[in-house]
Amino acid sequence: MKNKAIKLAVVGRGLIGSAAARHLSKMGCEVTLIGPSEPSDYAHHDGVFGSHYDEGRITRRLEPHPFWMQMNRASISRYGEIAAESGIDFYRAVGVLHIGASDSPEVALIGEIAEAAGIPCEAFEDASLAKRFPFLRSTKGMRGFFESVDAGYISPRRLVQAQTVAAQRAGARIIDEPALGISECGSGVTIKTRSGSIEAERVLVAAGGHTASLLGRSFGFKVLGRTVAMFRLGEAEVRRLSGMPSMRCFGPKGMDPYILPPIAYPDGHTWLKLGGDPVDVELDSEVDIKDWFRSGGSTRVADGLQAQILDRIHELQFEERRVVPCMTTFGDSGLPQIGPLSDRVAVAFGCYGKSAKCSDEMGRLGGMAVLGETRAELAP
Ligand SMILES: Cc1cc2nc3c(=O)[nH]c(=O)nc-3n(C[C@H](O)[C@H](O)[C@H](O)COP(=O)(O)OP(=O)(O)OC[C@H]3O[C@@H](n4cnc5c(N)ncnc54)[C@H](O)[C@@H]3O)c2cc1C
Repeated sequence: MKNKAIKLAVVGRGLIGSAAARHLSKMGCEVTLIGPSEPSDYAHHDGVFGSHYDEGRITRRLEPHPFWMQMNRASISRYGEIAAESGIDFYRAVGVLHIGASDSPEVALIGEIAEAAGIPCEAFEDASLAKRFPFLRSTKGMRGFFESVDAGYISPRRLVQAQTVAAQRAGARIIDEPALGISECGSGVTIKTRSGSIEAERVLVAAGGHTASLLGRSFGFKVLGRTVAMFRLGEAEVRRLSGMPSMRCFGPKGMDPYILPPIAYPDGHTWLKLGGDPVDVELDSEVDIKDWFRSGGSTRVADGLQAQILDRIHELQFEERRVVPCMTTFGDSGLPQIGPLSDRVAVAFGCYGKSAKCSDEMGRLGGMAVLGETRAELAP
């Protein structure tokens, strides 16, 4: 009740912004959540883009860095609460298979972290791997750890929707438009949109890859273009692969894809998706970001991903391939940027390609930052 009178704006209706809006509304703040919906036609879209326009993001607790593991644990523990508050389901507990060469130090580390953190992970090697996961094309010299509890995938689109509905139910107002500018004055902030200005006492900016350009300042984060390849499956393949978990493959860059199991998409078809770019494409400006999304991603990267999926899934048959662009943000610290820029403006972004699963806790931290509390390791 302490924050009842505080009038806040959250800019960015993506995974982190919508989570922040839910938390802040539930704390009793008066919240306006500002951000556009997903564009229907990337090639002709003139506005901003987001990183959550999909149905599959891997979720898991296992993570080497204690900060990220705690983000994952806290967020996953609230998936049920978000679904109950919104009536929108977004999580499938199919588990995650972490897999690589038997002598891979990264795979060995998975086993060590799991044990230290008390996260159940079953180990498989060669023949036992083939028996447990018969869809794998080759298991010779391979080792896998299957994380079966609190792991699988979420639909990032549905999670944004769920957070938005839950925030609305807790009193938030939604403005389905981009912010065109943010200015501070003595008593508050003004957020300009096409349909008018919104006044608030404070603002949290969670605009993903657009955060730096919207605020007109560099945070030292890189925005990287990402390409995903999707494979449309027929009914027989969907049935055959029905027990497939999410997969994280370890190997040299470009041969280390992450793979989502077959997922039903809004087009009525079921798609198998994978990503894992061999080279980083830096998007240095707002124009670069828009051009990247409008370009539709890299066919060359998708060719490499196609080779990867055919090499990993036994006799995979697909009916169509789709190439999809996305973006991620990376900083030097390995941590997100969640904290104040001034008494009235705070930011929450910096996703490292792994913040969908833990966006609820990142949004909560963003909410606390705009209220004046920053976690020690994130303090400026
Ligand atoms: C290909 C790919 C695969 C990934 N796989 C995984 C995975 O398996 N597991 C995982 O946990 N994470 C994964 N991620 C990462 C995850 O999707 C991101 O971490 C997450 O989307 C970041 O959330 P965000 O809120 O910072 O950004 P976004 O979700 O991009 O949200 C930012 C929002 O800001 C809005 N915005 C931008 N500019 C403005 C403006 N001027 N005014 C108002 N709104 C604005 C945008 O419209 C967007 O909705 C993946 C990312 C990519 C690209």
